[in-house]
Amino acid sequence: MEIDVCVIGSSNLDLVARAERIPRPGETVLGSDYFEAAGGKGLNQAVAAARSGAATAFVTMVGRDAAADQLAAVIDDDGIRADAVGRCDAPTGRAMIIVGSDGENSIVVVPGANARLLPTEIQVHGPLIARASVVLAQLEVPIATIIAAFEVARAVGAVTILNPAPAQVLPAELLSITDVIVPNEHEAAALGGVELLRQQTQGKVIVTEGERGARLITADGETRISSFAVDAVDTTAAGDSFCGSLAARIAAGDPLHDALRWACAAGALATTRIGAVPSIPTEAEIRAMLASVPSATSAG
Ligand code: ADP
Repeated sequence: MEIDVCVIGSSNLDLVARAERIPRPGETVLGSDYFEAAGGKGLNQAVAAARSGAATAFVTMVGRDAAADQLAAVIDDDGIRADAVGRCDAPTGRAMIIVGSDGENSIVVVPGANARLLPTEIQVHGPLIARASVVLAQLEVPIATIIAAFEVARAVGAVTILNPAPAQVLPAELLSITDVIVPNEHEAAALGGVELLRQQTQGKVIVTEGERGARLITADGETRISSFAVDAVDTTAAGDSFCGSLAARIAAGDPLHDALRWACAAGALATTRIGAVPSIPTEAEIRAMLASVPSATSAG
């Protein structure tokens, strides 16, 4: 089987508690609700790519614990190739999330096994990565690993897409082998602005701007992609839905503007449901949203 999208990235189990308010240091408050859901930017983006119709492979690292089994079931449910899901002796990544009644949240992320996704894994799975049309990564795993994966992609002419989240200083070596970089507004600012990113990558910059949609910046200028009006209840995984589904449509050969419309619809739909992986929309849902709104673009 050929691979459309290969995602290199993190897997987490999100442990979500709702409470009247977020406790102060040393305080205990009673929670009103609790659920566990699959998350982590890598897993979210792999699921988004698969639900947008891409044959998807996922290079990630989990532990040898029950959380890893929960995540393996999610990966399997979405038909994602799991040959490159590694297991190690560190705990599976976790995000411990407390949501207050006002919607504010407080989060501790423990990378655990994600920090063990080392460049040696890319050597092992190089032949798999080399079969993908698009290689997509984020920054919740070691940067050296992403560089190694993008080098494999570049060698076979695959498109490399980097979602620089969470924002951190990036080596020129990584930017120089990135074809498409997809920061949100905060990440774009933290990385020195869109013009610098465009120069460093010599590629395309796509800035996601929440309810305002997205902007594409290339050497030829700027194009705005309008957003879709939705009743947003939880923006978790909006950016991940955008990136994963964008990768899927680029791999499918869509013109970039069509792929961006698709990604904006996917991001908007993800805000209408709570949680990370459970909120990521399917191809049918995205098609229905695109059909319901006429395309409108303004250049300049
Ligand atoms: P992140 O989650 O990484 O901060 P954004 O908030 O920019 O990313 O969201 C990613 C994309 O999801 C946006 O470009 C937009 O297309 C869509 N989106 C996000 N929030 C909304 C919203 N409230 N209404 C409509 N679309 C949204």
